Amino acid sequence: MTGLRRLFGLLILGLLALGLRQPTTQAAPNDSLHLTLGNPSNAVSDPLVPDNYLIERTQYAMAYQRDAGIPAWVSWHLEVQDLGSTSRGDFVADSSLPSGWYRVQPGDYSGSGYDRGHMIPSGDRTVSRAANDQTFIMSNMIPQAPDNNQGPWANLENMCRTWARAGNELYIMTGGYGTKGTIASGRVNIPAFTWKVIVILPVGNDDANRVATNTRVIGIWMPNNQGIRSNAWEQYRVSVDYIESMTGFDFLSNVPTAIQNFVEAQVDGSPAVTVTPGTGSPTATRTATATPSATRTATPSVTASATSAVTPATVSATATRTATPAVSVTASPTDSGPPSFTFTPTPSITQTASQTPVVTASATPSASATVAIPQVQIFLPYVTK
Ligand code: MN
Ligand code: MN
Repeated sequence: MTGLRRLFGLLILGLLALGLRQPTTQAAPNDSLHLTLGNPSNAVSDPLVPDNYLIERTQYAMAYQRDAGIPAWVSWHLEVQDLGSTSRGDFVADSSLPSGWYRVQPGDYSGSGYDRGHMIPSGDRTVSRAANDQTFIMSNMIPQAPDNNQGPWANLENMCRTWARAGNELYIMTGGYGTKGTIASGRVNIPAFTWKVIVILPVGNDDANRVATNTRVIGIWMPNNQGIRSNAWEQYRVSVDYIESMTGFDFLSNVPTAIQNFVEAQVDGSPAVTVTPGTGSPTATRTATATPSATRTATPSVTASATSAVTPATVSATATRTATPAVSVTASPTDSGPPSFTFTPTPSITQTASQTPVVTASATPSASATVAIPQVQIFLPYVTK
């Protein structure tokens, strides 16, 4: 997000020009364990950037959004050494936020119908009281529908700890997307979706540089709704590219570009579907119909002329044609894709039409005239939805 950086630089220059104090800009340190794979929004710990405000704690890093009352993302490293037997702590307001910022209170979610949903879960930091307490700071919460939070979301959080106990270390980034209203008198946004990016590596060193094409990377895009409690988390898998396109963030930016591009384009668990002609192996298909259909009116230029002189004579000709092609597209496979998708009809639609125009001729004064009626070819242009 060099654009953001440039904008921010201009802001500093402007303030200096006005003779104001120079803001204490602090870019994300590169040595933060929790930002090993990157800082998804180039968040900075400057109160003048209240919608992308970097908070770093020993247990995680986040970009906080003051006016939404929730983080844009939370990022943390998880390994077996983080797991112990400490019990859950108590919710507390974030006293570290800049003075003058509203601090979401533990009671602000009461009666809203939404859980105080941890982004970094309490269960990922059970090695000590101090570590667990950091997960209960209210800036780590978003309003989460109970069926999301306690259903597939919690199951996936448990899976991450299972993977960590099995000899892996994980990098996990998570947040909410969109809005379905607010709570706490408008101070806290209710996201419409919750998302996750999970990178699983066998325990080792130099993590950003050893992500490889066979590294398991999981993207999750889950509706923040009731009614999904018994659903499997696996059905919400999407590519990291999809989450990047929706949020505008750049995940895994410290992973070498070619590898980053590869792993971000995959959908975890995408079936290694091999379709063998004749065996009837199932494939997932989804059909979309473009609406509205493309309409194009062509009014060709038609000329007519008298073959023998008639003076004076008026000769005119007109022809019109309207084409309304139906556009139908099949995408395959899409079972693990997001609820909506865009497509380009392939091949694009070509229509050719020809017709004989109606040609009228009249001559004044009355005289006999012969009029040639031309054949007119009308080529409708390529119609591309
Ligand atoms: Mn939770
Ligand atoms: Mn990326």
